[in-house]
Amino acid sequence: MKKIIIAVDGFSSCGKSTLAKDLASKLGYAYIDSGAMYRAVTLYFLENGIDPDDPEAVDDALSRIEIRFLRMNGENHTFLNGRDVESDIRQMRVSAQVSKVSTVSAVRRAMVRQQQAMGAEKGIVMDGRDIGTVVFPQAELKLFMTADPDERTRRRYAELQARGVNISPEEVKANLLHRDQIDSTRADSPLRQADGAIVIDSTHLTREEQLARALALAIAARG
Ligand code: C5P
Repeated sequence: MKKIIIAVDGFSSCGKSTLAKDLASKLGYAYIDSGAMYRAVTLYFLENGIDPDDPEAVDDALSRIEIRFLRMNGENHTFLNGRDVESDIRQMRVSAQVSKVSTVSAVRRAMVRQQQAMGAEKGIVMDGRDIGTVVFPQAELKLFMTADPDERTRRRYAELQARGVNISPEEVKANLLHRDQIDSTRADSPLRQADGAIVIDSTHLTREEQLARALALAIAARG
């Protein structure tokens, strides 16, 4: 069976990672959360006092950062220099800074290089903001997800509550919209719908409906 690359891009909290994970598990493909990589870099910068506007400090930091993914008990875990940071990278202090760090071209170059290496064998679903436009413009299937901001807030708030994060729905919404704004307007690799991408608006779709739609597209793209 021919293996393909599936790129899933879109705004914050539209259900990209849920869909990408479900799709990868149905197809027996690897799933890569590219946002987790930018979050891990941001965590490193915060913990080590790295100024994203200082190019030398950024280059030096990038040479010290190693990011890996491991699946443990069916869950994806992100490792930063050998430490499991899956929970730390979801904290609000990281969410508040990650879009700023993600505007830095040196950071993007380093992440894109690793992401492209992960997709060399195909059979991969990767979600993010620039996967269909920059990382894998040749992807056989590109999906672009959107959803109503209030629905996105509701979902992200529920997710954060379940993780025990103490935050108001207003703060969640403000962070989502702030990140969308920075991500869509940055000079390097702004978030936009890739040529040939198929839009999925998840506002009124259940998880199963989204998956069924995407799976049908993946099977057609696989040929
Ligand atoms: O996917 P997630 O919401 O965890 O991504 C966190 C942030 O990482 C995004 O808001 C964006 O600033 C950045 N990002 C990016 N390019 C990607 C994935 C994420 O710039 N491919």
